[in-house]
Formats: sequence, structure tokens, C-alpha cells
Amino acid sequence: MHKKSRARTRHRRAHWKAAAPLLVACANAACRQPTPPHAACRHCGMYRGRQVLPPA
Ligand SMILES: [Zn+2]
Repeated sequence: MHKKSRARTRHRRAHWKAAAPLLVACANAACRQPTPPHAACRHCGMYRGRQVLPPA
């Protein structure tokens, strides 16, 4: 059995409900933009002090 990706799990019919717009301030002191928790920041591309996305 393959691991079910987060995307597939979240696309199940049981998950088709409105999600709360949960946002926290980015942990990057130089950014501080509202960003979803436990996800890479869309503004600076940092996650837990590490560059994981190309900076916009
Ligand atoms: Zn950020």
C-alpha cells in the first residue's frame, strides 16, 4: 500500500467542508506575513528557519 498523499486525503468527499482561515504570523523575523501554520510561508518561502521554496 502506498502512502496516501495529503492532497488526496484532503480531496476526499468527507473533507469537502469550509476550512477556517487559520493564519499565524510567519516565524521569519524579516517577514512576519500571515501564513498557514505547518506550511512553508508563501511570502518568503521559509519553513522552520529553512528555505524550502524559491523566494517570490
Ligand atoms: Zn514568511
